[in-house]
Amino acid sequence: MRILAIDIGGTKIAIGLVDNGSLLERVQIATPCVQSAEQFAQVLLEYTKDWMSGVEAIGVSTTGLVSKEGISAINPDTLSFPTPFPLAQALEAATDKPVKMLNDAQAAAWYEFVQLDEPRANMAFITVSTGVGGGIIIDGKLHQGSSGLAGHIGHTSINPNGPICGCGQTGCVEAIASGTAIQKLSSETMIPQLSNIELFEQANINSEAERIINRSAIAIATLCCNLRATLDLDTVVLGGGIGLAKGYLRRVNQAIQSKPRPFRVNVVAAKGDYDACLLGAAHQFEE
Ligand SMILES: [Zn+2]
Repeated sequence: MRILAIDIGGTKIAIGLVDNGSLLERVQIATPCVQSAEQFAQVLLEYTKDWMSGVEAIGVSTTGLVSKEGISAINPDTLSFPTPFPLAQALEAATDKPVKMLNDAQAAAWYEFVQLDEPRANMAFITVSTGVGGGIIIDGKLHQGSSGLAGHIGHTSINPNGPICGCGQTGCVEAIASGTAIQKLSSETMIPQLSNIELFEQANINSEAERIINRSAIAIATLCCNLRATLDLDTVVLGGGIGLAKGYLRRVNQAIQSKPRPFRVNVVAAKGDYDACLLGAAHQFEE
């Protein structure tokens, strides 16, 4: 089955043409600033018009909370459009093709669950990128909850004295570990200013860079152990631009080793690499 896959992030959108689970084409664009879902759909379809013959369905994965009404923001800082944003309806109206839409990390969780080397019953997928998202598989099923909120583990608070999060809580994992949080801390303490890519490149020669990255990895390790304690997870899959950056997974697993044994859980890299959410978007039609 040939599917147009769209993965909407806070800063960028990946669009792919997926045929029977394989990514044939891929483009990346900046998330446009628009006022309506119809405009947003038109921007997306403009980039994909050459691919549309043969496309049978459209799968969308997106940052934010997905409900029947559309996309809405848990952390308004990471979403650039008004909410609720009925994008699935707009794409369906513009193309006359079936559209399925899921939260990005939930979509990736389901995709990664199917790709696991050994069958497991309970798994979490954590993506560390602009924000921190997650998806949870319980007894072999994606757990979404009645409002779709399940898996928003970036907004579990791990430090009552920590930074204020865009969601309104204090000390959320996202406010400590996300790419945005890393960038904020490094811009406050590093001279000259570094991009997150440069920060990772310098980690082994610059102790401040190492400290900032480790602070994020330790927060993700704490999150993994909290999830292990709550859900008795068999494994955690890590993805996202920060999650898959060089040495990050090693730092997370190292920090977990310092925790009491019952809370330790093995963390592995996403098989879908940086495209786990995009492949997950398409995977909605392959259940
Ligand atoms: Zn939060």
